[in-house]
Amino acid sequence: MNFISTVIDWINKDTKGLYESRLQAVVIRCTSMISIVYYVFLAILFLINEQWLLGLYDIAGSTVLMYAVFLTYNKRVKQSFWIYNLAMMFLVVFQIVYLGWGIGAQYSLFLLIIVSMFTTYYTPVFKFLVALFYAVLFCILYLYVQFHMPYVVFLNNIDYFISIITIIHSFGCLVVAGFYFSAKSMGMEKKLVEYNKNLERLAFFDPLTGLYNRRQTLTFINKQVSALEKMETGAFTVVISDIDFFKKVNDVYGHDCGDIVLKEVARILKKTVDKRGLASRWGGEEFLMIFPGADKDTVVGHVESLIDTIRKMEINYNGYVIKLTMSFGVCQYEKGMTADEVIKNADVNLYEAKKTGRDRVVY
Ligand code: GH3
Ligand code: MG
Ligand code: MG
Repeated sequence: MNFISTVIDWINKDTKGLYESRLQAVVIRCTSMISIVYYVFLAILFLINEQWLLGLYDIAGSTVLMYAVFLTYNKRVKQSFWIYNLAMMFLVVFQIVYLGWGIGAQYSLFLLIIVSMFTTYYTPVFKFLVALFYAVLFCILYLYVQFHMPYVVFLNNIDYFISIITIIHSFGCLVVAGFYFSAKSMGMEKKLVEYNKNLERLAFFDPLTGLYNRRQTLTFINKQVSALEKMETGAFTVVISDIDFFKKVNDVYGHDCGDIVLKEVARILKKTVDKRGLASRWGGEEFLMIFPGADKDTVVGHVESLIDTIRKMEINYNGYVIKLTMSFGVCQYEKGMTADEVIKNADVNLYEAKKTGRDRVVY
């Protein structure tokens, strides 16, 4: 297990160059390693069967692939890409010329196309030309074998065995390359989803309290108004609230404590509104609640018990106990009113609540 994780770490190791593609290096490393094992195995098989040229050629190919891997660790991923492509290509050509089409060495050309497609160093046109080159080479090799017999024909059914391991090699490399390349795009997609969620959070919600922000609230009120304009009856009620003497909390206990108080108040407002409507941070220490479908009397009932809850609430901060009160202004939408008018009326009532002693609701 330890050995496997060391090998995986070694394959995944980052590139040294500042602008080098780690992904490309990783794919070259792992497909080369699979190929090296495969070609060394073939070489041994050929040497045992006294096919010296084939054996030596595969050993030479494996050595070049090792060099390509070595380059990926030494700031030369770009060169490594070319050496890898050339080595693999010549090995394929040589195998087809010597052993014929039936062995299946040509499938490795698909791998080279995929690796070239995902390279970050070249333009799309260039990648297309590389793919075209391999496609043409594939056709030439196919035509070649139609008119030429393989140089080597094994009599002891060994070629079936070679075919199977050649196919395993090609598909193994394709799977590994596909895995790494798809992991990259999946990773990027996941990042994008996270990023979009973050953007949405920023666009809709207040970062401190998690309540809806002012812009989103305005959109919501406008939607309520335009929906009710088209209907005979129906209501919604808006409540604007403000923490009493909040500046004192900041002045006495500090801004951090003020933030904690804001969060705590937000939590209670959210709980009050629950599924009945929407709670938002209207600004600083002002909050706005909307109760769709509810009339003024019902909402005032909710607000009165909320005033009571806030009065009894104790916030602990660094050993201190902080107590608060809040003032509320309520306005019920009536036909013909604009969203701005509803908000303005609620605001006027809030001002009245402040003027007449705070810790109360005016409607
Ligand atoms: P009143 O009863 O008349 O509403 O008095 P007040 O002290 O609550 O009102 P004032 O408008 O004088 O002060 C509001 C304070 O709220 C001033 C500002 O520094 C503070 N404040 C606004 N936003 C934040 C915030 O995000 N965090 C903290 N900690 N304080 C904030
Ligand atoms: Mg205040
Ligand atoms: Mg205020």
